[in-house]
Amino acid sequence: MKPFRYLSIKYKLITLMMFISGFILLLASAGVMINEAVSFRGRMLKEFSTLTKVVGGNIIAALTFTDHEAARETLATLKVQPNIINVQIFTAQGELFAEYHFKDDQANSIHPHKQGKNGDPPPLAILKKTTEHGFLEGYPFFDDHFDLLQDIVFENQVVGTIYIQAGLDEIRSHLIWYLIACGVVFSGLGLGAYLISARLQVVISLPILELTRTVQNISDEQNYAIRAEKKSYDELGTLIDGFNAMLTQIQLRGQKLARHREQLEEKVTLRTAELALANNGLENTVLELQRAKEAAEIANRAKSEFLANMSHEIRTPMNAVLGFTELLDGLITDPIQKNYLSSVQTGGKNLMMLINDILDLSKIEAGKMDIHPEPINIAIIVEELTQIFQVKFSEKGLEWQTDISPDMPTQLMIDEVRLRQVLVNLIGNAIKFTEHGYVRLAITSASNTYESGCLDLIITVEDSGIGIPENQQKLIFEAFKQQDGQATRQYGGTGLGLAITQRLADIMGGTIRVKSKVGHGSIFKVVLNHIEVPETRVSSAPSKPSDEQQIVFDAASVLVVDDIPYNRQLIKAYFRDTLITVIEAENGHEAVRCAQQHVPALILMDLRMPLMDGYEALRKIRQIKKLQATPILAVTASAMKQELDKIKKCGFDGYMLKPVSKKTLFQKITHFLPYSVPDVVSELPEKIKTPEAESEINASTLAEVAEMIESKGADLWNIAMKTGNFGDVKKFGTYIKQLGESYTLKLLTDFGADLIFYAGSFDVENIMKTLEAYPSIPERVEKLRKQASEHPTSNIET
Ligand code: ADP
Repeated sequence: MKPFRYLSIKYKLITLMMFISGFILLLASAGVMINEAVSFRGRMLKEFSTLTKVVGGNIIAALTFTDHEAARETLATLKVQPNIINVQIFTAQGELFAEYHFKDDQANSIHPHKQGKNGDPPPLAILKKTTEHGFLEGYPFFDDHFDLLQDIVFENQVVGTIYIQAGLDEIRSHLIWYLIACGVVFSGLGLGAYLISARLQVVISLPILELTRTVQNISDEQNYAIRAEKKSYDELGTLIDGFNAMLTQIQLRGQKLARHREQLEEKVTLRTAELALANNGLENTVLELQRAKEAAEIANRAKSEFLANMSHEIRTPMNAVLGFTELLDGLITDPIQKNYLSSVQTGGKNLMMLINDILDLSKIEAGKMDIHPEPINIAIIVEELTQIFQVKFSEKGLEWQTDISPDMPTQLMIDEVRLRQVLVNLIGNAIKFTEHGYVRLAITSASNTYESGCLDLIITVEDSGIGIPENQQKLIFEAFKQQDGQATRQYGGTGLGLAITQRLADIMGGTIRVKSKVGHGSIFKVVLNHIEVPETRVSSAPSKPSDEQQIVFDAASVLVVDDIPYNRQLIKAYFRDTLITVIEAENGHEAVRCAQQHVPALILMDLRMPLMDGYEALRKIRQIKKLQATPILAVTASAMKQELDKIKKCGFDGYMLKPVSKKTLFQKITHFLPYSVPDVVSELPEKIKTPEAESEINASTLAEVAEMIESKGADLWNIAMKTGNFGDVKKFGTYIKQLGESYTLKLLTDFGADLIFYAGSFDVENIMKTLEAYPSIPERVEKLRKQASEHPTSNIET
């Protein structure tokens, strides 16, 4: 059987109604039964009480006359009363006078009451003791009898006592019948209640069940137009009304939603169409942007290519110009010719400087300018600058003032090359734009912060020159910009110096400012922030001195690959006095062929050539087994970083940048070709001083030269070595060169010329190498002198 809570409403209602009606019926029946029992008993008592009185009255005579028989007969009349079980008559003294047992035997004779016998009436004394009201209270419904005790009174005197014991069978059977009747009524009523409740529950459950079915249908069909049918006006009717109202709202909302969805769909369709249109537009825009970007990239590449090309195209002929002037300088002695040649050299160098400036600027703008801070002594740099510009100061009669703060640390971590570039630009400008007065360089720090490992370095270049109008002070830092109306002829320049200076200051973490008043001069102030103060100086040991004049290469063949004939000729000329055989090739194809045929000891490879470039030639040569170990040096006019990176990546053994000087070439190839530095030089000049006698040099002249280079030459060399500044180096170089020219001694001329060239291009490394190689010069001259004295007739080409 299902638990109550799982029953349907129908059965719940039937069950409830049955329970309630059953319960009430039970209560009513019980009440009626109790009432019936009580009243039946009361009636019995009353009836028996009357009976005892009547019997008592009838027995008085028998008692008075002690007539037992009469008493017995009187008692026998009680037979008509089926409930009486036993009747006893006691005398006034409590003696049993007569008795009648109706159950045992109808003709019972009177005999004394036997006490203690089960079922026997108790003696009167006991009977009396147990009753207060004249009769015994028994248990009329549960005991099988009840007792009644009544005094027999005659003329106000108790003459005896009558005791009646009555059975309760009648009352019990009465009650049983009553119970049966109740059961029948109960069942009938229960059945009736069931039938009635089964019908009546419909009133409550049917609307609810219908409502449930409606809900189910709505849920299954998703049809909110269905309505529940209202069949009553009670709470269920209200519930159905509410439910229907809710359905109406849902339906309306559904309709609204549907309309909204339709509108949305329309909108979405519209927007999709618009978006598609816009996307087309956007695609076009993106495409345009893409094209613009590509165009910009192409333009940028074109610019870089242009710069690379320009650099290449200018460096290539400059290679020949500077190389051949270098060679020529050693060959001519005529001062006018020398002067012309010097102009060519100066012009060439200026051109190279301009190219370098442009390349620097494009490098900075492309973010490819790297800074390499190293420990430097700023005082030494200032000293060098003093030497460099000394001639100019004295030419213009300007006063040069330097002021380095006394508490400036000996060393600072700065990129020396870039700092030098900044200072040369600013001092160069100050000299250029000042006719009278002074130029002052001050180096200080913002505060004594270097104790914490860093300082802000302040460099001030002040002059008393023409000054800069206020409205031009910003403009001059732009590339190719000069003061308005500036006499180009008088001052020259390109307008790149300050642009580069400002950008260099910027990438070194600094700033540059100008303060100026027209006619009173200008102050340029560079502040380099957070310059590290190193604890110890890392000294860069100069490399082993190697003077190309001393180098004697063993016999070897060198393949020179270059599409420009004069570049090949130049290299050939450099090797003229050596044991090196030059093989020429004018493109990559020829290079591969020649390399395979001659197996050279070294290949000098130009990169840009028609038919096959240097990279392809390198690749092809490397594929030939016997050439795999042959050193190949790239010789390029391109100073662009990408090109140099590519060279390193492709497997070249090294590279040289055009224009290539003889010194650079010789020093570079010593890494790849066997050579020696012989003690005796075979060249032996015989005559000196006059051009006519230039091919002849004798021992006494050589002794003179030796004496001069060992006295003044040695002094100047010592100074140059000690100070290391460019002025002293140049001075020493000029002296040696002039000596060489005067005595037509090529080894001196070349030595001096190299030194001057390195000093002019601030090439510290080569200056140091050359200076350190100098002690071999007096030795060589001395050897020549000895040779000349031993072989006075020798006539050797110088
Ligand atoms: P350049 O010196 O090659 O013209 P710069 O970029 O170095 O290029 O200088 C740009 C211009 O700034 C100069 O042409 C000049 O007009 C002005 N200028 C620079 N320094 C000074 C100075 N110390 N005094 C006066 N004008 C100067």
